[in-house]
Amino acid sequence: MICKKTEGTMPPHDLNRSSLAHQTGRLFVLSAPSGAGKTTLRKALMDRFPDLCYSISHTTRQPRTGEQDGVDYYFIDQDEFKQRLDANRWAEWARVHENYYGTSADFLDRCLSGRKDVLLDIDVQGARQILDRYPESITIFIMPPSLETLRRRLSARGTDNAQTIALRLVNAQREIAQKDRYRHVLINDQLSEAVASLCALVEAYRTGVAPD
Ligand code: ADP
Ligand code: 5GP
Repeated sequence: MICKKTEGTMPPHDLNRSSLAHQTGRLFVLSAPSGAGKTTLRKALMDRFPDLCYSISHTTRQPRTGEQDGVDYYFIDQDEFKQRLDANRWAEWARVHENYYGTSADFLDRCLSGRKDVLLDIDVQGARQILDRYPESITIFIMPPSLETLRRRLSARGTDNAQTIALRLVNAQREIAQKDRYRHVLINDQLSEAVASLCALVEAYRTGVAPD
């Protein structure tokens, strides 16, 4: 498991800019190819930092077994999604794997102006929009150790059929190609190590210590 700071297209970390962000709350953005373990890591992060505000996304996809409306997602239909789009109510939105996903602008602005730190679990298209709107965002890309491991995790999860898994693996390669846009890249190999690294990273930002 590696956790590194990336160079290039991302703005460099700057303590002054970070403390400015603290006046409004910090925005942590997690992205990963489907099956890399983002939900697992996000839940572990929320257990460790229960005061983080998790932004529950809206989606037009059908709930998976066990998923609850208002907990995992807000499940809405395409008409409602479009109405909110027309009313400019998404901070970001994207079509991912043939479904629409969006983040409520009201929710984000309310949390951030209340100086609360927010966690977003969104795809690479959404992360780009969030960076345009909130350039101080702390972006973290979670990688699987390999595409074969990713395929195995998707199969073992048992929530997607073979066709959906194939689509997700194709999309994964496109998403991984964008990883250097993120400030940090974290490889989720051994789960306990990945959780520890992610928590340490978030802790470092929250305590004002710039990570290496
Ligand atoms: P995502 O939210 O990125 O689609 P999940 O968190 O649902 O991914 O993880 C996909 C599957 O892989 C789940 O069954 C999860 O339990 C498993 N998983 C997650 N991280 C690891 C890991 N480090 N090692 C082995 N299995 C993992
Ligand atoms: P899943 O359907 O497997 O829960 O999520 C599929 C993909 O959609 C994941 O990459 C996830 O991060 C992304 N996603 C979830 N919510 C949002 C959102 O609000 N906006 C965007 N852009 N992507 C999202």
